Amino acid sequence: MRTLTFKLIAAFVLVAALSVIVLSILISQATTTEFDMYLQHMGQGRGMMGGRGVAGMVSAIGAAEEEFLGNMRNYLWWTGVVAVAVALAIGILLARQIVLPLRKLAAATRAVAAGNLKQRVQVTSQDEVGEVAHAFNSMAESLAKNEELRRNMVADIAHELRTPLTVLQGQVEGMMDRVVEPTPERLTSLHDEIVHLSRLVADLRTLSLVEAGQLEFHPASTDVAGIARQIMSSAMAEAAQKKISVSTEVEEGLPPALADSDRLSQVLRNLLDNALHYTPESGQIKVKIAQTPDRQLLFSISDTGPGIPDKDLPYIFERFYRADASRSQATGGSGIGLAIVKQFVEAQGGKVWATSQAGKGSIFYFTLPAAK
Ligand code: ADP
Repeated sequence: MRTLTFKLIAAFVLVAALSVIVLSILISQATTTEFDMYLQHMGQGRGMMGGRGVAGMVSAIGAAEEEFLGNMRNYLWWTGVVAVAVALAIGILLARQIVLPLRKLAAATRAVAAGNLKQRVQVTSQDEVGEVAHAFNSMAESLAKNEELRRNMVADIAHELRTPLTVLQGQVEGMMDRVVEPTPERLTSLHDEIVHLSRLVADLRTLSLVEAGQLEFHPASTDVAGIARQIMSSAMAEAAQKKISVSTEVEEGLPPALADSDRLSQVLRNLLDNALHYTPESGQIKVKIAQTPDRQLLFSISDTGPGIPDKDLPYIFERFYRADASRSQATGGSGIGLAIVKQFVEAQGGKVWATSQAGKGSIFYFTLPAAK
């Protein structure tokens, strides 16, 4: 079988055998012609020989020299045998060291392919094989994480859909059985549930498209102040109803942003919707846009709502995360508004984060690159 072990051992033995063969040829050359010439030269020096050239010379190699040369050849043979044996032993040892971890890696890969995402391999060396083992473990780790996210997402979606669907089913069945009167108020409430469901499905679609990189962004030079004012004016009616004061502050000489105006509008709308949802009557919402020294546009949306507890702050941009589940669900939030904000901002080369003080309010920040 042409395994890696076989190839490595064969390479070692071949190198050892070749070295010995080349050495033997050179030594044999040296011990026949050159040794003979040396003996003749020595004899000449001592006046024992005629001192003629090499061609046609009588060989100076006698019985004693023949024996010496025979012994030399024997030693060479033995050297060759020992060299090949040592090469074989080292080859087997090294091949085992390289091949064993690779075999374990192959078995672990098959296990992951068969669905065992908990499979990991031991990293026993710092060389290239160790590097591959490291890379394998990171790959298995991220596969397991993605699988868990996927499972959680399916469970979350099922949970989100169940409540409004149960309400709808109960109400409609009651009306069909004539137990519940289809009054305009009840029909309005049913309609609200359907609107909530449609929004959830639309948000989920948007989120899954952007996560899969299938949502197209068309970045262009965008007048952010104009977009901000447009979004703010569309929220005026709701703000007035809750007696919330809304203001916009745009730094002078602000350059345009390099952004997709539709996506930027949605980011601002989602953040403003949240601010309006969570800010109590007579509160304040401020939108500020400024430029940072590294040519980024910094947006901030602050409110005087209940704030977000420190323990929840790192997770609010995750889909379906709700700091206070009952309150958010009651206000009709889909729980993925901020997840969409994060995806939209990051896809356009920006960053998003939030700070908050319990009882005082929250500030949501995001950046976008300025147009050149
Ligand atoms: P939802 O549709 O539930 O508002 P989001 O993804 O928009 O979902 O927000 C996630 C969670 O972050 C909310 O459920 C809420 O707990 C918290 N949150 C978001 N914005 C604010 C805010 N302005 N003030 C207080 N809490 C907020």
